[in-house]
This record gives sequence, structure tokens and C-alpha cells, in this order.
Amino acid sequence: MNKDAEVIIIGAGLAGLTAAKVLKAAGKSVLVLEASDGVGGRVRTDEVDGYLLDRGFQVFLTAYPEAQSLLDYKALELCKFDPGALILNMDGVTKLGDPLRQPGSLVSTLFSSAATFSDKMRMLRLKLKLSGKTIEEIFSDQEITTTEYLKREGFSGRIMNQFFRPFMTGIYLENQLSTSSRMFEFVFKMFSEGDAAIPAKGMGMIPKQLAECLSPHELLFHQNVSSVENGAVTTAGGVTYNADFVLIATDPLGSPSGYANAVIKYHSVSNMYFTAERRPFESPLIALNTLAGKLVNNIAVMDRIAPAYATNSALISLSLIGDHSKMNETDLQKNVITELKFWYPEAVKWKHLKTYHIKYALPDDDRVSNEPDYKAMRLNTWCFVCGDHLMNGSINAAMKSGRLAAEAIINSMRND
Ligand SMILES: Cc1cc2nc3c(=O)[nH]c(=O)nc-3n(C[C@H](O)[C@H](O)[C@H](O)COP(=O)(O)OP(=O)(O)OC[C@H]3O[C@@H](n4cnc5c(N)ncnc54)[C@H](O)[C@@H]3O)c2cc1C
Repeated sequence: MNKDAEVIIIGAGLAGLTAAKVLKAAGKSVLVLEASDGVGGRVRTDEVDGYLLDRGFQVFLTAYPEAQSLLDYKALELCKFDPGALILNMDGVTKLGDPLRQPGSLVSTLFSSAATFSDKMRMLRLKLKLSGKTIEEIFSDQEITTTEYLKREGFSGRIMNQFFRPFMTGIYLENQLSTSSRMFEFVFKMFSEGDAAIPAKGMGMIPKQLAECLSPHELLFHQNVSSVENGAVTTAGGVTYNADFVLIATDPLGSPSGYANAVIKYHSVSNMYFTAERRPFESPLIALNTLAGKLVNNIAVMDRIAPAYATNSALISLSLIGDHSKMNETDLQKNVITELKFWYPEAVKWKHLKTYHIKYALPDDDRVSNEPDYKAMRLNTWCFVCGDHLMNGSINAAMKSGRLAAEAIINSMRND
């Protein structure tokens, strides 16, 4: 049997690419088979009419430990959001300072004087608690929902509705805040210890940087793997590749037959892009919609953060939590503009550019970890699995799972 590589990696998302990088650095030969036409999986950037469109609004947190050790930040030319947010409510638009890094900046216009003082104190207490807590400690704590956690921390209903709920909804892509308190602590810690940023030329530059270690014959596109048996990997097109080890780095919906999880729970999001002659706001912040029953949860003016995203006019990114793919596209656009013109009357002049409906955006994160379960990562002597779904839905987890799977394969090679 001719071997195509020592390790075949199925899927060129962040997990698969990180594994490839670690394996290659250890001198192992790899073949990465990707179903789509490019690298990145859930982190891709398209160029449409001269605009850079990330497939789903997301931010890179510079404090992610895994990214710090595996990525060249300078080459990514990271462009930072300012900490804080614009709060959209019935009173209009209010700028919220930096509640995470400077709890004292919670403005009194947003909160009643009593709530302002106690919420400030609680925010400060939370920040101190988390700066003294390691990531390992965070992920070994008892898990409750984020809502329950914030209640136990004593935060007022006002700060919950005016900040935590829309802010965390934009991160978790679910609005009940049923996501694990471990995830809340982890994300809060990452936000307070680093920056939220996007690479100058799109989030897709992150996987592209990881893929730089691969030559064209080590990374094949349009290879939808349908079966995996005894080190033989076969695509839907009927081509079979052979290796000593196979690493399944697909999202759970794309797993080869026989490897899918029985129950897959996930979060969906729709990301709508509009162009405008004038930016709705000039500050490099995310705007959060705090109203109940809203369609749009958060807004970002992408070219304000990274100018290369748009050259001639403003590029506005809107995130709508949940699956909106069944809605009539024209109605959806109309409804979104009707909602936003309350704060931004010029929204009626915005031009729709593109909408992405992302069915599988994040794994359900009610239970999360920072280490994959070894049995889930190593299925047998030759077949391994990686991906964010083994730990938690984040860039950090995807990369870490890829590194750990690669290291486990390298160990197995040594022991053979
Ligand atoms: C809209 C959105 C917002 C997000 N926001 C953030 C954020 O702000 N911060 C953050 O840290 N994380 C965020 N995330 C999460 C982060 O993007 C993911 O956790 C991470 O990209 C997952 O990487 P992965 O390699 O595990 O999986 P994927 O990226 O899903 O990669 C799997 C790859 O396998 C390929 N594949 C699937 N089936 C097959 C097959 N049968 N054969 C061959 N190839 C196959 C796919 O095409 C894909 O390329 C967000 C995700 C989305 C979608």
C-alpha cells in the first residue's frame, strides 16, 4: 500500500491547520484534505465588490494563550476595537467606557446612582477575582449558567439588560445566557487582559498564516471525505488516500460517516453587510442593541476598525442571533433597517451587500472544558479527532485541540 503521508488531516479549519503546523514542525509528513475551496472553516474572509467580508462577525482576542504561542501577531497587522461599547436603548445611544478594564468608567447616565456604585464595585471585584484565577482554575470550577452566575455576583437587572445580556449574546450567539459560567469567566478574563482585534485584511488571515507551512501538494481542496477506515480515507468523489494516522478535524456536521455525534446542539447566526456613504458612528466600538424582541444584536463599522475592509464607503456588519435563513431576504433587510433607523435615520439609505446565514456557528457551550476528553480525542490506535467542539467554541480552543491532537499523534509514533 502506497502511503500518501504519515498523517492525513481531514478539514482545514483552525484546528486542522494548527495540527498540521505542529506535525510539520516535528518533521512529520501531512496531507490536509479540505471539502471546501479554501482554508479557515468558520474563519474565512471573502472579497466582494472591493469589500472584505468576514463570514460571520467575530473578533480575535489577543490574550488567547494558544494563539500567542502559535501565531505571528505582527504579520497579522491587528487592528483593535476600543474597549467598551455603544449602548442602544429607548433613550438613544450612550457610550459605555471600559467596564471590564476600568470598572469605574460605567457612566452614571446608564445606571441609577445606587446601581452605578454597586455595579462598579461588583465589576471591580469580578475583575480582581479573575485576574488572580488561572485558566485551569476557571475550567475546573463548578458550571452554572452565565445568567445564574451574574445573579450570584449580585449585578443589577439594569446592567444585565444594558450591558451583559447584549454583549455576551454577541459572543455566545445565544440570548438566554445559558452558556457555562466557565466560558463567561474565560472570555471576561481574555477581554480584560488583552484586546479585541481583527487582522488588517480580514479574519481569514489567521488560518492563511497557519497554512503557510503547507505546500500545494500537502493541502488539497474540494476533497469531501465520506469514509475513514483503517488509515484509508475516501472522498465522496471516490479517491482514496492512505496514511499511518488520520486526524478528523471537521465540524461535527461534516464528520465522515460513522464518526458523527448522535446529538449535535449548536448556535446559529446571520451576518448582514450593508454599505453606506457615511458611517453610522465614528468610534471604534461595537454597538449593542438592548431592546427586547430585537432582530439585530450588535453592529460594527468594519472599515473604522480596519480601513482595508472598505475603500470607498463605510462597511456595516450586523449580527442577528439565531437561524434567519427561512425568512424572505427582502423582508429581513426591510425589518432590520426599520429597527435601526430609530438610532440611525440614515439607515434607510444603506445598501445591502451580502448576508451570511451560518447554521453551525458555535457548538452548544452549556458544558465546556479547556482540555479535550482523551477518549473523544483518540478513537483508536490510528484515528484522532480535534476541533472546538471537544472543548469550547473559540479560536483558542480550536487551536489548542489541534495542537494536543498533533502532540498525541507524535507520541504514538514514538511508541510504535
Ligand atoms: C459567526 C461566528 C462567530 C464567532 N465568533 C468568535 C469570536 O468572536 N471569537 C472566537 O474565539 N471564536 C469565535 N467563533 C468560533 C471560532 O470561529 C471556531 O471555534 C473555530 O473557527 C472552529 O475551528 P475548527 O477548526 O474547530 O472547525 P471549523 O472551522 O468548522 O473547521 C472544520 C473544517 O473541516 C471542513 N470539513 C467539514 N467536513 C469535511 C469533510 N467531510 N471532508 C473534508 N473537510 C471537511 C470544513 O469545510 C472546515 O474547513 C465564531 C464562529 C462563528 C461561525
